[in-house]
Parts: sequence; C-alpha cells; structure tokens
Amino acid sequence: MLTIGVIGAGTMGSGIAQVAIAAGETVRLYDPFPQATERGLEMIKKNLTYLISKKKLTADESSDMLARLVIVTATSDLAPCDLVIEAIIEDEPLKKELFKDLETVLSTKAILATNTSSISITSLSKGMTHPERLVGMHFFNPAPRMKLIEVITGLRTSEQHIDFIIELAKQWGKVPVRATSTPGFIVNRVARPFYGEALRILAEHGTDHASLDMVMRECGGFPLGPCQLMDLIGLDVNLSVTQSVFEATAFDPRYAPSLLQQELVRAGKIGRKSGEGFYTYPTDTVNPENNETAAVKPNELDLGYVEHCLIRPLIDRLIHSGSRVTKDTASKNIPTIALTDGRTATQRSDDESTQNLVLLDLCVDFEITKRIALTHAAQCSVQALEQVVCALKNAGLHVTIIRDIAGMIVTRTIAMLANEAADLVHHRVSTPIEIDTAMTLGTGYPIGPLLWADQIGLKNISKTLKNLCDHYGPSRYRISPLMQNKSISNQLFHGPS
Ligand code: NAD
Repeated sequence: MLTIGVIGAGTMGSGIAQVAIAAGETVRLYDPFPQATERGLEMIKKNLTYLISKKKLTADESSDMLARLVIVTATSDLAPCDLVIEAIIEDEPLKKELFKDLETVLSTKAILATNTSSISITSLSKGMTHPERLVGMHFFNPAPRMKLIEVITGLRTSEQHIDFIIELAKQWGKVPVRATSTPGFIVNRVARPFYGEALRILAEHGTDHASLDMVMRECGGFPLGPCQLMDLIGLDVNLSVTQSVFEATAFDPRYAPSLLQQELVRAGKIGRKSGEGFYTYPTDTVNPENNETAAVKPNELDLGYVEHCLIRPLIDRLIHSGSRVTKDTASKNIPTIALTDGRTATQRSDDESTQNLVLLDLCVDFEITKRIALTHAAQCSVQALEQVVCALKNAGLHVTIIRDIAGMIVTRTIAMLANEAADLVHHRVSTPIEIDTAMTLGTGYPIGPLLWADQIGLKNISKTLKNLCDHYGPSRYRISPLMQNKSISNQLFHGPS
C-alpha cells in the first residue's frame, strides 16, 4: 500500500483521490483553498453514497476508503508520500513553482506526476533538481469512471518511473497508454479534426449543425456529433485546447482555430453551460433542416454505380429492394452513385464525364446503416437525384442531402483522424494499438482511427487526403509520410509491418 499525495481538490483532484482510495492506497489531499478541499471531499462522499445506493460498494468499504483519505493543510504534510499527483489549475508557472517546492519536501525516491492536459512535461520539469522523476499522468473526466490514463514521458523522464506508473495504473483498474510529450498528447491531439472538420463544413455551409451531427452519429457510428460534443465540453474550453495545440505546434495551419468557433465564443454562445451553443437549452432544437427531397415512389430508371468494395452491401440492399443497378454504366446519363473519394461531385463528374453523379458518404457499416448522406454534382439533373433518393428510400434508408463539399462529412473526418494518428506513430509519440485504445476509451469512437483506416484501405484514405489537398491546398490536408508509405507498400497499421 502506497501513500499518494494529491494536490488540487477540484474536479480532477477529487476524482483522482477517489480512484486511489478505492484501490486501497492512503491519500493525502491538499488544496490551498479550504472551501475547495471541502467541496472536493463532499464530491467524493456523494460519489461513494451513490455507489452504495447502486450496491457497487458497501457502507463498510466506503468508511474504510474515507478513513484512508487525509486532508492536509501544507505541502510539507506530503513528506511521507511515495507519489504526488498534481491537479491544480492549468497554469505553467504555478505548477513549476509547486514542483520545485515539493522537491524540498519529498524523499528523493518519491515520484511526481502531473495531470496537465496541455503543458509539455519537459517544460514543467525545467528547474527541478531531479527532472527525471516527473511523469505525465493524464486522467480523463470523470476520473473514477474513465478507464484511460495517458502516461506521458518528458524528454528527461526516467523509463523506470514510467514503468512504475504504468503498473500502478493497471493496479488501480485503469488502462494506461504511453506517449511522449507532444502537444495535446494522444486524445486531445488526434481528436482535433473531429471538431475542426465539422467547423469547416459548417463555415462552408455544407449542411446545418443538426444534420451534420446526425450523419456523424447514424452513418459514422459516433456516440455524439461534433456540435453536440462541443456544446457539452464548452466551446470556450474546446477552442482553448485547439489554440494551445496550434501555439505549441509553432502555428501549424492544420490546427488553426475556426473563425466560426471564435465568433460563437465571442457571442457568449459557449454551449450547455450558457444555455446556447450550436443548440439551445433546455429545449434542444435537435431537428435538422429538412433536406430530403423525393417521396417514395416506384423505381423508374436504372441506376449505375462505381464499384467499390465498401459499398457492395449497399448495392445488394438496393438490388433486393427492386432497384435495377448496373456497374460502370456505358450510358453517361443514367443516375450513377459512387463513394466519395475526396473530390467534389462536380469535379469528379467533370473528370470522369459522368453527368448524373451522386456521391455517397462513408458509413461505418453499409450492411446495416439506416442513414445515407449524399451530395450531387452541379451537372446532375433534379430527376436523377430524385431517382437515387427514391431508390435509397425504397431500400429502407433515411437520406440526408448535403451541399457538394469535398470529402463530404464522415469520409473527410475519418481520413483526417487517421492521418493525425499516423503522424503520432510516425513521430514515435505512441503505437497504433495504444492510440486506438486511447481514442476508443477516451472519446468513445466506435473504432480506433488507425484500425478504421486499415479497414477502409490506406490507399482510399491517401486518395481522399490527396484530393482534399488538391481542392483546399496542401497545408491542412497534407498526408502523413507514414500513411503515404504504408499505402504505397500495401501495409497496415495493425498487421504485419
Ligand atoms: P479545477 O478548477 O476544478 O480544480 C483546480 C484546483 O486547484 C482548485 O480546487 C483550486 O483551488 C486548486 N488550486 C489553485 N491554485 C492552486 C495552487 N497554487 N496549489 C494547489 N492547488 C491550487 O480544475 P480541474 O478541472 O480539476 O483541472 C485540474 C488539472 O487537470 C488542470 O491541469 C487541467 O488541465 C487538468 N485536466 C482537467 C480535465 C477536466 O476535464 N477538467 C481533464 C484532464 C486534465
């Protein structure tokens, strides 16, 4: 049994203290503000009472846990600690000062951990006498419930201390993933395009926020759409994470904050906590704009399709529902469906001399999806579009029509999430398995982005990114060198390398 110091009794500190006492450790909790400590303790007691009511904990176990929680009033009271986890406000000079102070108090064997979400571990260890003992231990909110812990190595952190924290996290029932200190670590970095692409699509008026969320949920399989999630996190908090990654990457345009988001924050529309963000609260206006056109009627025309293994199950569904669907049609006038490859429908229609082209967005599973998002070329006739919508509706699908934006919604988001993850592997920040674990546990994505990219085909992902680069310019959509190499050499992220 260890003695763990926790500094900061706010949202994260109180949660971390609860995790440690639940794992049988003794905890010394310190916060310079007595009301904060009081609130933190109340929060822990409330959580334990809830667990007792759900029969997940007995009253005796709860008393035993609370008996091992000691409130202390000075950093010097942390002297007996084996490990001290810092969870004070996100302020670099304050955290640095604290570590310097702690080194004068703690034994030389004690390990120091920081729960920072955005500050470089290397930077925080600057000024410490023993910088090798500072480890990033990034919990997720709420700490007692979220399984993931990102264990972050600064340039000077000792491997021995990292191994210790990894083992400890496992003993505490958590799932640790390793990463080197990089802006945003794993989850906050790889997730940037989830919000960034949504904001760009909205800025281009590709669709409305509720339709976008619906497509991401029902086609992409994400538990929440990006706009719902930004409202929940707070647009101000989400923007400040983006800003911190943007600054820490020497203003890499890939992470440039969205003007649309900045304007919403300036207007005080910061999400649930202000009563208004993308949606209004408590009366949620979750209904998307009505953008479905054709009513269901018997299929009148043949449909053509461009072969792609991912949409094969959808073609079968169309055939079973009575559509006459033929591959790579000779006649260029027949309504033709194809999976988006990152070009606009209008561009592709021109490139391939296909007049009535309708593009489909990616679905996590075309065999069972209930919704399809589609867009059409400027050259496509209204009748051709209606025929495609009609055929899809006859196959039991809901249809969302969006404007002709390159890479549509799900496709460009997945391509960018995978590209970001590939870059972290390329820079040896972490491994594919750890990144995918972090993204599924930390954000609830249905599949890790690298496994998803393997399933979609790295050549398809690369092609989408190249087409997005052609359309928007190279800065934001530039392909990760590792994605490029793996795609050329037919390798996978999860597979024999
Ligand atoms: P919070 O505001 O809820 O709590 C911060 C606590 O630190 C307060 O109780 C405050 O009294 C205390 N504090 C302030 N100055 C202090 C000092 N000089 N010494 C000791 N304590 C001091 O913040 P939080 O959300 O718990 O975040 C804490 C840390 O965890 C931050 O670094 C944050 O980036 C990180 N983090 C937050 C989340 C999250 O979702 N909230 C998730 C992961 C990591």
